[in-house]
Amino acid sequence: MKNLSIRLKITLWFSAVLIFVAALAFVAVFFVSDAVLQKGVRDNLVGTVEDNVGEVRYFSSYQEMEDSGHVDLYLSYREGYLEIDDDFLNLVNGICTGLFQEDGTLLYGENPLGGVGTAAGFTEDVVQKLDVKGEIFYIYDRRLEREGQEGLWLRGMVSRRQGEVQLNAIVRFSLVVLPLLVALAALVGYLIARKALRPVQEIENAARRISQGKDLKGRIVLGPGGDELHRLAETFNGMLERLDSAFEAQQQFISDASHELRTPMSVILAQCEFTLEKEREAREYEKALKVIWRQGRKMSRLIAVLLDFSRLEQKARDFVMEKLDLAEVVESVCGDMALLKEKEITLAWEAQPGFIVRGNRELLSRLLVNLLSNAYRYGREQGHIWVRLSRKGNRAELSVEDNGIGIEPEQQEKIFRRFYQADASRTGQGNGLGLAMVKEIAAFHGGEIRVESRPGQGSTFILTLELESYAVHAPIA
Ligand code: ADP
Repeated sequence: MKNLSIRLKITLWFSAVLIFVAALAFVAVFFVSDAVLQKGVRDNLVGTVEDNVGEVRYFSSYQEMEDSGHVDLYLSYREGYLEIDDDFLNLVNGICTGLFQEDGTLLYGENPLGGVGTAAGFTEDVVQKLDVKGEIFYIYDRRLEREGQEGLWLRGMVSRRQGEVQLNAIVRFSLVVLPLLVALAALVGYLIARKALRPVQEIENAARRISQGKDLKGRIVLGPGGDELHRLAETFNGMLERLDSAFEAQQQFISDASHELRTPMSVILAQCEFTLEKEREAREYEKALKVIWRQGRKMSRLIAVLLDFSRLEQKARDFVMEKLDLAEVVESVCGDMALLKEKEITLAWEAQPGFIVRGNRELLSRLLVNLLSNAYRYGREQGHIWVRLSRKGNRAELSVEDNGIGIEPEQQEKIFRRFYQADASRTGQGNGLGLAMVKEIAAFHGGEIRVESRPGQGSTFILTLELESYAVHAPIA
């Protein structure tokens, strides 16, 4: 059962229910028909007997009988005659009617019960049931009351089988038609299920194609429609889209990273080859070693950042998230960075305690360090850096402003990409990963990072983060 296709399973369940319903219908039809037919037989019996009442007339003399009109059949009875009209139904539709005397003597008509029937006393106005040698008969008696007819009874008799004949016909009909209907419904059900589930087949085929070909570019094409399966296919395609772009980004990152590592490595190799070509003076060896050392440091920094990235991506869940005060992060990072004294830039910060967010202290410090390093790196000689912490609704805003070289508007969105450097000639020691890391950390905290900058005048990087709570005196942005 487990290995059957869904459409077959649906059809089987559907057919089982249909068979059950058909069986119920059959039983219901059987009992209802039986009751209706037997009632019909009894009603007919009563009707026939009542009809026959008017067909028997008593005349005191033959002359009187002849005077009354056409004489069909007559019997002498007591002092006169009984005239029986030829409309008297003594056997119609299995119903026998007999004209009896009170003592059970049959004067005219039919008596299928024989002696047994006459033994049963006459009872007026009820349909009796009588078992005659295993066969059930309905009996209806009617006393004749007109003048001269005293002591005469009409008795109608009909076998219960009369109704059963018709019931058997209905049963035979049902036994042929119901299974046919069930089979037809099951077939139609199967076809509908097959049609309705065809998209599942398509989805399965597409999924197999994609997994076998390892090509994430494949998509499921179902044609127009908006049912659950189309929505499933859409979701599936969306998932493939994201997987594909994530995979591409990963590939791009690896190729960029190897490229970035290859450059300093080539410099080192070239420097070594050149220096080792012949005997050189100590000064030249020292110069070569310095080049190698610088490139080595560059590589080592790059490798450290790459490791951070993969840590952030793969073990994102391992970072401990705690309630912390952003002001403390600002205080400690700025306190350290202010000691740098790079380009004689002054760093000023404003951070009143009470900006409680849910985050990882190490990552948030790293984010601020990256923004500050850039502010120093792209800041002007004797410039300024301002770090501010403020509140906008239930979000904290941390801004790092410098009055350095600024960023061209068309570069402002690109600088957050990995390895992207707005102006390679001025990037110095950078590797284009600092802001990508900032963006990654912001997203990891459910926050956002944006930049506002005017070329030649300076830049402001703003991080917004949801606040868990804040002190009443927290300044509003
Ligand atoms: P990099 O290692 O090159 O600094 P980042 O990812 O930190 O890499 O920054 C990407 C680019 O954005 C930098 O190369 C630089 O052109 C630009 N940039 C970043 N911060 C600033 C800033 N404060 N002022 C001007 N330009 C900046």
